Amino acid sequence: MSTVEKVKDENSCAICGLALHTHEIGAAIVDGDLIEFSIRSWGSVDLVVCSDCWKKVSRNIDQTYDKALERRREIDPAFTPEKKMNQD
Ligand SMILES: [Zn+2]
Repeated sequence: MSTVEKVKDENSCAICGLALHTHEIGAAIVDGDLIEFSIRSWGSVDLVVCSDCWKKVSRNIDQTYDKALERRREIDPAFTPEKKMNQD
């Protein structure tokens, strides 16, 4: 069974929450690994996102970190990136 065939018949976008027809799905994660930082736990996730939300997510994935930092500092001028704990 292909990944596309594993998508359920009843879907809603994991970001905007709208019910979707299959042809409106922009992307799906099936049996994806999940790290839930708030409870420091590993799990798995199946989700779909609509085409509009996928465009936003895809654009943000392709965005450089410098652009993300610029956008963050527009709303939080004092924002300073954290240093990784395992850096030398
Ligand atoms: Zn959506």
